[in-house]
Amino acid sequence: MFEISLIPAFKDNYIWLLTRGKRAFVVDPGDAAPVIARLEADDLTLEGILITHHHADHQGGVAELKARWPVEVYAPADESITGRTRPLSGGEQIEVLGEKLDVMAVPGHTLGHLAYLAPGALFCGDTLFGAGCGRLFEGTPEQMSASLDSIAALPDDTKVYCAHEYTEMNLRFALAVEPDNAALSDRVARVAALRAAGLSSVPSTLGEEKATNPFLRCTDPAVIAAAEQRNPTVNREKAAIFKTIRGWRNEF
Ligand code: ZN
Ligand code: FE
Repeated sequence: MFEISLIPAFKDNYIWLLTRGKRAFVVDPGDAAPVIARLEADDLTLEGILITHHHADHQGGVAELKARWPVEVYAPADESITGRTRPLSGGEQIEVLGEKLDVMAVPGHTLGHLAYLAPGALFCGDTLFGAGCGRLFEGTPEQMSASLDSIAALPDDTKVYCAHEYTEMNLRFALAVEPDNAALSDRVARVAALRAAGLSSVPSTLGEEKATNPFLRCTDPAVIAAAEQRNPTVNREKAAIFKTIRGWRNEF
């Protein structure tokens, strides 16, 4: 498997750097400058770019990187992406630094949003976050709920490489939903210690998310009860609970 490390960008974005020897790929280079600095410092050759969705903080650096390394750009087929050479819509398998990656369609945050599944590692952009999920800018709650279901079906030890450091903020909301969840209290303490030490809370594992992320827990009795308190007429279907919790989060 290739090695994975992070390149911080903007205020709270993570650009993921995949390397095998001196060969590199990057995921969601919203800004070219920190990527170029890192590639140069480590004497790496860029071989490809993976894009999860069209927002500028995920693709803004592509043109500048391509001017220097004319590489393949794997990106959603149905979104406006600068420099895309490999349009994808989910279900494909691509090869990245000698590994087969499965491309997953995970609409919700945007309609063409993709996630890339490497052995034991998921690059999920703004779909699933540490203890949270992306806002629904384009998709419906039903779409996002189904996308999160397809992620939740992956093995618990899958590492979740999301694109933002939002975990602490998300945990505050998660605690409001589930004040009595012991795994959640544990995670709050762990993440606070990491952040205080200047470390990233990402990646988490999918098992950890399933135990603490309210958006993956919409069939849990405590989350259902919290949604019903928020909206007494909500039906108990998973997507309806998800919609209520997501709406609550927007106002939190
Ligand atoms: Zn986004
Ligand atoms: Fe983003």
